[in-house]
Amino acid sequence: MWTEPHGTEHITLIDPRDGKPSAVVRCADAVDVDAAVSTARRLFDDGPQWPLPDRLRALSRLAEIIERRVEDFADIISVEIGAPAAFARQGQVGTAVSTLRGIIEAASTYRFAETVADSVVIAEPAGPVAAITPWNFPLHQALGKVGAALACGCPVVLKPSELTPLSSYLLAEAALEAGVPAGWLSVLAGRGEVTGRALVEHPDIEVVSFTGSTEVGRSIAATAGARLARVALELGGKSPSVLLDDLDDDAFAAAVTTSLRFCLMNAGQTCAAWTRMIVPATRYADAAALLRELAVTYVPGENLGPLVSATHWERVTGFLREGVDAGAEVIHGEPAPPRPAHGYYLNPVVFGRVTPSMRIVREEIFGPVLVVQTHSGDDDAVRLANDTCYGLGGAVFGADQARAVAVARRIRSGSVHINGLNGNRSAPFGGFKQSGIGREFGRWGLEEFLEVKSIQPPPGFAYPISHSLLLEENHE
Ligand code: NAD
Repeated sequence: MWTEPHGTEHITLIDPRDGKPSAVVRCADAVDVDAAVSTARRLFDDGPQWPLPDRLRALSRLAEIIERRVEDFADIISVEIGAPAAFARQGQVGTAVSTLRGIIEAASTYRFAETVADSVVIAEPAGPVAAITPWNFPLHQALGKVGAALACGCPVVLKPSELTPLSSYLLAEAALEAGVPAGWLSVLAGRGEVTGRALVEHPDIEVVSFTGSTEVGRSIAATAGARLARVALELGGKSPSVLLDDLDDDAFAAAVTTSLRFCLMNAGQTCAAWTRMIVPATRYADAAALLRELAVTYVPGENLGPLVSATHWERVTGFLREGVDAGAEVIHGEPAPPRPAHGYYLNPVVFGRVTPSMRIVREEIFGPVLVVQTHSGDDDAVRLANDTCYGLGGAVFGADQARAVAVARRIRSGSVHINGLNGNRSAPFGGFKQSGIGREFGRWGLEEFLEVKSIQPPPGFAYPISHSLLLEENHE
């Protein structure tokens, strides 16, 4: 069901490929938030409930509908963030569908009930959820939260980024077609400070699932903490890619190639991007030469999309000027590029000869910018990799796989890839340190939306602990 918001503020969306207006969106205000949350609360408290098998069927239909409408979703994401068509289809929509299917799989096999000695432990839906998402992978991030919350039996109110509400509107349309009952998913467009804040402060929201910047995540955790609402936070990163000193020339070139590719994915606007390449000091010149060759193959407007907004373009290029002023070597790129006449495009920039205290090394830039650091051996590489307030992603490349795994184990980060970039939709994703609290995806993602209850049956009472029976009992 579509309703006109009570809110009267309008946001004009800008297509980052040409800087021209693409749509005008009316924002939800605190009255709209209250209406959506109250509906979610009523559905949760009073029923009629929506049984798990039906929820999983609807989510499977949703995955099929998104796959069928891949072009519609990809086109809208291209309008919203400028993603090139091929990346919009595979990297954005494809990843989102895979995420949703991973959630369905996890929920189909999750043990919602188990016995512990003579207790029965039951995982119950935690209650109405606020899902607040960023703009960089708008559909994937929305589905990571909406899919898991609905799978667990929690009604959700989704507030997408004010830059990317259109893909969430399309998601709402697809959810209706998939049979998600009215009120289980509400989508409210609006600004973080208004719509987002009203959601986080609403007393009937039991779980706030947030993906975005560390700065906003910290303030959301404080607000939610004041009323002890649960939070799950997926925040920023400055992830390392460590190349060990036993790689031969081919493996070294492959490691540099893969690392640069992931750094520049989505124009460098990826939370887990490997934005610090940590190479043996003896191979700095090799790495620099390879990076120069590779970086020119990323062409803005062709295989490299624009930055999301004029403000973001200014922020990212501000870091470039700072890097030069701080004395970093520009291995590749233009450190003071003119603003393009059309769109917010930026060529890749690679810095070398950096020091750990430089802001380009410490802060998340969220653009097509790589810094190259040098190490003197495994211990030094681990020290540099961990010299950050973040701990989201990372990679280790080495000929001796056991040694590479040992280095990966010492990196304080939520996920570390070894000798490649391999996705696994059932594995948890999230951050150590200031990269977040909690995990998304797989069974860990479900647990953000579940409360655990221990039932102590009377002596001699045989609690019916069949997995499927308890599923039904727990969710009908
Ligand atoms: P952001 O923090 O500015 O905004 C994220 C969302 O929070 C938006 O919907 C925004 O409207 C909302 N918001 C802002 N202020 C709010 C407030 N006071 N109360 C409630 N909601 C509020 O982030 P962004 O610029 O949209 O996204 C980029 C950031 O997201 C980067 O830091 C990136 O690393 C991070 N990110 C993290 C992950 C992850 O999984 N760890 C994934 C993608 C992006």
